[in-house]
Amino acid sequence: MPVVIHIMAKVSINLATGSIQKEELIVGIDLGTTNSLVAFINPDKNPQVINDTGKGVLVPSVVHFGPTGDITVGNEAKDYLITDPQNTVFSVKRLLGRSYKDIENYKDFFSYKVIDDDSESLVKIKVGDKFYTPIELSGLILKELKVRAEHALKTPVNRAVITVPAYFNDSQRQATRDAGKLAGLDVLRIVNEPTAASLAYGIGLNPEETKTIAVYDLGGGTFDVSILQIQNGIFEVLSTNGNTFLGGDDFDSAIVDYWIEKNQLNKADLIADNKLAQRLRLKAEEAKKAFAHQSLFNEKIGDIWYTIDRNTFNELILPKVQETITCCQNALKDAKLEIGQIDEVIMVGGSTRTALVKKMVAEFFGRPVHDEVNPDEVVALGAAIQADVLAGNRSDILLLDVTPLSLGIETMGGLMDVIIPRNSKIPTKAGRQYTTSIDGQVNMKIAVYQGERDLIKENRKLAEFDLKGIPSMPAGFPKVDINFLLNADGILKIQAIELRSGVKQEVEVKPTYGITDDQVEQMLMDSITHAKDDVAQRMLIEARTEGEQMTYTVENFIKKYSNFLSITEISETTQYVQKLKDALTSGDKDLIHKSIDELNEFTRPFAERLMDEAISTAMKGKSIE
Ligand code: ADP
Ligand code: MG
Repeated sequence: MPVVIHIMAKVSINLATGSIQKEELIVGIDLGTTNSLVAFINPDKNPQVINDTGKGVLVPSVVHFGPTGDITVGNEAKDYLITDPQNTVFSVKRLLGRSYKDIENYKDFFSYKVIDDDSESLVKIKVGDKFYTPIELSGLILKELKVRAEHALKTPVNRAVITVPAYFNDSQRQATRDAGKLAGLDVLRIVNEPTAASLAYGIGLNPEETKTIAVYDLGGGTFDVSILQIQNGIFEVLSTNGNTFLGGDDFDSAIVDYWIEKNQLNKADLIADNKLAQRLRLKAEEAKKAFAHQSLFNEKIGDIWYTIDRNTFNELILPKVQETITCCQNALKDAKLEIGQIDEVIMVGGSTRTALVKKMVAEFFGRPVHDEVNPDEVVALGAAIQADVLAGNRSDILLLDVTPLSLGIETMGGLMDVIIPRNSKIPTKAGRQYTTSIDGQVNMKIAVYQGERDLIKENRKLAEFDLKGIPSMPAGFPKVDINFLLNADGILKIQAIELRSGVKQEVEVKPTYGITDDQVEQMLMDSITHAKDDVAQRMLIEARTEGEQMTYTVENFIKKYSNFLSITEISETTQYVQKLKDALTSGDKDLIHKSIDELNEFTRPFAERLMDEAISTAMKGKSIE
């Protein structure tokens, strides 16, 4: 008997009154790298984007931190990219759920400070003397969208569907959920962007139809193409391909370089004259957009000619567009499909407005592409349709069984680490790798919880067992895979396996056993009303855990390698460790991060000097206990 829990998706929490509501609007949000926007289903039952009192539909995904603690998001913040780049954060989506190791190759791309105190933990961003996670920053963008939607619709907006690229991994999806929660949104589902785009075209809404489609998404700075198979209303991603550093910005740069050459400008002058560089960039974007309806762009400001015709533009961008076509080829190959097997091609992202892009994609697939829906709105519109389905307003559409509460395990400091997020379709499986935090640890406690709160003590315990007989190794060495498999009957199988030794342990539980719908509702409501405190606590605990780990590692290091270090080095390190220990008792997460950063900066040269591969590995890793 499958657990039928569709009704959970319809339960909502009104933050204003603190009560459960059965009928309430659910919005669809496209949280983009360059632009974000929100859409809803209007009373005529059509998806519609929200334009709050003429502020525009697209909200640039940019956050600025002012000197007095004032935060601005969107167009206003975008202006600060030129005047105050250190305090202006853009492209934060690139950092969501990523560790420093993931991004070190392109860290120069960011004009703000990305912190790298541990290559395997999630990145943080430093603005002034405060530390922010990409989750908090994305939360600020989502909050702005929520406020705009509430203002435009004159009703509280507490529930949302948020889209992510098809290639996002678990950690990036979880980070997106957390960002929503921080913004005070109950995130009912994370939907793939190509799936949303397809829904906006009405493809996949009919459960009878089987289709294979290609979704080509060229945004501001990223490109991806996904091949989807739709069957019985289920969207399966067959393959994705792309380049996370290719987009409309490259078209702008190509025009800028062309003008620099034509006007015989000096690149060094441009670096010195930020205003001119910026003007060139803005004019280039203007010219690019103008080619939608004219074939020549011609302006003169001061001594500089901003002249380019469409043919020249097409020549300039041809190699870039060709690159995207190669990605399409690879995506097809990975999906093991021939071009003729693609039934529909959908264009997504502002940059697909460029005629050459449309032409080349249509030529490659040998069929006309779908471009009837506004390409920078199509994802949000589709998300709104998905939201409407979840709200139960479309009786024609089948809702799949979902798990009503998140399932996860306890990690250091009593935190909940979600492995299967709530509202995941079942059956489903997910897993993550953990390690030990203490040298020679041979047992690992695995405690399984259900619920939405950040602290396990607020959630419901389902099972606990020990993975015993891990061979004695330094902390960080064991590799423990924890896999959750939730089958169609709602039975959760938990498997823990230490990969180096093969030590294994399994248990089974039924998460829905002994819990009523009312209790589930209550748990959901608590998670929203406590979201702010929970996240603050989680961040403090994470900072503490990181700090404790750091003191443990550094103290061990000094003990073991004292003869490699000078007396002054040892005493100064000890002072930094003490400062960190003091910070750990303070309850101030920024102070903890600051002290970690300082200790890290100070000890980095020793580590580089002394650490052999083995020790460096031992210093990294995420641990349960
Ligand atoms: P993302 O999904 O990365 O947030 P968008 O889909 O909003 O990005 O795309 C933004 C890009 O679309 C920018 O590079 C912008 O210059 C480009 N763009 C917007 N309108 C046009 C147009 N008419 N012609 C060409 N490019 C456009
Ligand atoms: Mg996009």
